[in-house]
Amino acid sequence: MAAISIDFGGTIIKLGIVESGQILASTTIPAISTDALRKRLPQVEEALQKLCLECDIHPSQCDGIAIGFPAIVDNKKNRILNDFNKYPDAAEFDLEKWSMETFGLPLALENDARLATIGEWQYGVGQGHSNVVMMTIGTGLGTGVIIENRVLRGKNGQAGCLGGHISIDYKGPKCVCGNIGCAEALASSVSLQKQAENTAGFQTSKISKAHNLDYKTIFDLAKNNDTVASEIVKYSIQIWSAMATNLIHAYDPEILILGGGVMKAADQILPHIQQHILKHTVQSKGPVEITIASLGNTAALAGGQWLINEANTRTLTNTL
Ligand SMILES: [Zn+2]
Repeated sequence: MAAISIDFGGTIIKLGIVESGQILASTTIPAISTDALRKRLPQVEEALQKLCLECDIHPSQCDGIAIGFPAIVDNKKNRILNDFNKYPDAAEFDLEKWSMETFGLPLALENDARLATIGEWQYGVGQGHSNVVMMTIGTGLGTGVIIENRVLRGKNGQAGCLGGHISIDYKGPKCVCGNIGCAEALASSVSLQKQAENTAGFQTSKISKAHNLDYKTIFDLAKNNDTVASEIVKYSIQIWSAMATNLIHAYDPEILILGGGVMKAADQILPHIQQHILKHTVQSKGPVEITIASLGNTAALAGGQWLINEANTRTLTNTL
């Protein structure tokens, strides 16, 4: 049976029809996360109906709808608990009701980075590993953790997915989460403009003229030996390396997977993080494997079917 997967990212919403980890069809629409969900969902519905037609699948032939959302979620009650200023009606919106009324399908809701981790663990580079940590470097810094073949969620759904909100600099800037000096507040797409402005030489650099500054521009300029861009790259990699060390010390994985849009510049990032971890991380039984995500930006979509199966099994167990 196929499943419908939706990944509400910070910039785009990815939509897919998946089967056994394979993406049968997919598309994207702009996130516009300043809008309310009730305003964005009609577009989501329209795009999904088109995808179903494309695959010649009727929604009733699917097991359910999986949604990855950039927030802390209660996956048992399918509610969004803390939206970090995205989609203003997220906490009050009943997605379960929407899923049932629109498509007649049950819903399985999960934090977006945790769902990407499930995707890589089940269908990507994490296959065969029982202890997996993933870092997604994109608009924000997301993380997910699998321990002893179980998805780590914790009492309030926060365990393992707040790795980007562990303080790196306790005297640093205030983060959107309320904490001080989080990795996400220091080196992510959302904090990049501020980071650039704080870098020596910014005012007279090419970067100061860029509109909607992103890491692609920074990594491209750094490759061409732009001094300010190189400094930003160096600083960002230091932050991500410190974050990776914290995650390994906290969760003791066999494999650390690095994903997210910024990893398109993996050749400029990966060797430095690997070196840092080798030098600064406790690894009692030899080096932890540090690798790039193999499913690219479709990991969360791929993980959708596993999530639906987990939710449906739980419902079945509860009703027996
Ligand atoms: Zn934070």
